[in-house]
Amino acid sequence: MISRWSDHEAAGFLERLSPRWGEPLALRTYTSRLLGADKGLVLHGGGNTSVKAKRRTLLGTEVLALFVKGSGWDLDAIEPEGFTPLDWQPLRALDALPHLDDAAMVNELLIRRFDAEAPTPSIETLLHAFLPHAYIDHTHADAILALTNQPDGQARIRAALGDGVAILPYVHPGFELAKAVAALHAAHPGCKGMVLMKHGLVTWGASAKESYEATIELVSRAENHIAQISKPVSRALRRITAVNAARERYLDLAPRLRGALALPTGDPDHPHARCVLAPVITRETLNLVDAENGPELAITPPLTSDHLIRTKNLPLWIDDAAAIPTAIAEFQHRYRERFQRLSSPATPPMTFDPTPRMIFMPGVGAICVGRTAFEAAITRDILGQTLQVKEQILAMGGTYQGLEDADLFAMEYFPLQIKKLARSTEKPLARHVALVTGAAGAIGAGICRGLLDQGCHVAGADLAGAALDSLAMELNIWAPGRFLPVVMDVTSPDAVAAGFAALIEQWGGVDLVIPNAGLAHVAALDELQPAMFQKLQRVNVEGTLLVLAEAARIFKKQATGGDIVMISTKNVFAPGARFGAYSATKAAAHQLARIASLELAEYGVRVNMVAPDGVFSDGARPSGLWAEVGPDRMKARGLDADGLQEYYRNRNLLKARITAAHVAEAVLFFATRRTPTTGATLPVDGGLPDATPR
Ligand code: ZN
Repeated sequence: MISRWSDHEAAGFLERLSPRWGEPLALRTYTSRLLGADKGLVLHGGGNTSVKAKRRTLLGTEVLALFVKGSGWDLDAIEPEGFTPLDWQPLRALDALPHLDDAAMVNELLIRRFDAEAPTPSIETLLHAFLPHAYIDHTHADAILALTNQPDGQARIRAALGDGVAILPYVHPGFELAKAVAALHAAHPGCKGMVLMKHGLVTWGASAKESYEATIELVSRAENHIAQISKPVSRALRRITAVNAARERYLDLAPRLRGALALPTGDPDHPHARCVLAPVITRETLNLVDAENGPELAITPPLTSDHLIRTKNLPLWIDDAAAIPTAIAEFQHRYRERFQRLSSPATPPMTFDPTPRMIFMPGVGAICVGRTAFEAAITRDILGQTLQVKEQILAMGGTYQGLEDADLFAMEYFPLQIKKLARSTEKPLARHVALVTGAAGAIGAGICRGLLDQGCHVAGADLAGAALDSLAMELNIWAPGRFLPVVMDVTSPDAVAAGFAALIEQWGGVDLVIPNAGLAHVAALDELQPAMFQKLQRVNVEGTLLVLAEAARIFKKQATGGDIVMISTKNVFAPGARFGAYSATKAAAHQLARIASLELAEYGVRVNMVAPDGVFSDGARPSGLWAEVGPDRMKARGLDADGLQEYYRNRNLLKARITAAHVAEAVLFFATRRTPTTGATLPVDGGLPDATPR
């Protein structure tokens, strides 16, 4: 590992930040980002840094402030606002106490903030407060963990880093750890850093550069030592699975797995708390799960206790698809039973769901689980890091050893962690996955946006082309990581199956399907070409049927219900002249959706229809239907494009211009299950008495 320090970059940070924040915090921000840039040092909120600096109060008195990384900030993108300013003196005075429980410590940290709006400071704040140095860098570096997380870890650290560092056996983070670090530091005044067993590394310095480079130097020494003593590992495999075969197997079992992981809620309208899956199907994970001693290698406690909320205390091993329900039920039982066994009267109530976060399956690979794709992706990163560190340990001929379960439990139910969790509120569709067909059209795009706004993960399906590409570009900025463009021709059974498969590979299943793809054509019956009618019939009727059928198959596998909201049209109830092919084929599709409501109710699937009138565009995205219909209607009525929109507005009771966002709201009404309704049609037309569903 090399130092990323650059005088030029440091000067840039000083120029940008020091006028407002002062020099110490400007450089603290810079080197914190340097640490964050090395994934081998910190990952997803792991690690924290601090600086001590003078601060003037409103009355003009100078006080010493401790700026510590606040929760919710990652080092790689931290700004000065991400450091919580604290009153240093009263915090460092706490060192005199023989004991301070977690809740009281958290209270002290919160009341000592200089800024009431500042984020909750790191749970490791007192460690920073009890050490005298100006700059402190604390990381959970991979190379350090590869040495500490072994039964003979202390000797290995000594061999790698020499006598210049102090070594502290594992201590519960918080007050106890801070006190132990301070005591060990006092006993070894000349040491240049401290290794916390099964936890990480602490370095310090009078300057930002000195503290940062001490971290880099110690981690580099650990890396070099590991490289010197490592040998290639050969592993006995029970079988060899091709990555493609594993992927096929996963696509088949993922909805079943996702369904089994959903927890019952007791709410009849929202009976399942769902999750999102992120598979890791690679040569490396397959070599692990297919190894003779696969379970032994895979099922170990996390690298450090800060991974716990992402990983739980242990991963879950599932032998094969048939074992999914039992394995999950047993995991949940063990998790609850562990809580009973290890909790004390001081433990907060069981806040975490008993769902596994990492699953290993022979012949399939690893599967990460989160309440959202964002969470599952973090777990996937942690899984990658964990497997890499374990490989390093095997290569140096060592044995992986994680923390004791009691230590893990103490961290999992740490008041500050619980507080962090309680703050996050969930949007109504946060744990849901949706598929919208015809996504690149005006109504489709509006629906995608509406669903994303409610936290949903959305696959937008359409024909390949610029419209889908530009939608993907727009929505990936709108909702990073939650929009998946899917190329799908709804008239092809294979393409429909492949589109659903892409969605399953990405998120594990589907909960909400919006058949929306449609074609329009203007011609009087005696002019209508049979070929044109057949074209509409293939997209509007067969396309809807294929999507409904595939959705039904997956919903049944998943066994957690689902919702279908079919985009029908006002024309089903009030057809238009010269619009026979469209009106008739949409009526057939509408009827299919009603039949789906009859067939799928017993599986907890609700099927409803939304019947809009005259949506001309979605912002700059024109409606394909109106591109087809508009010219004819303008000609018939002697109107221009604006005049036609006015005509449609004026013909409804409310004189409303119907937008894609209005259609999206109607979809959301059903998708968020505000009423126990199925087989119903909701018009979105400003009031057209002729088109009232009957
Ligand atoms: Zn730490």
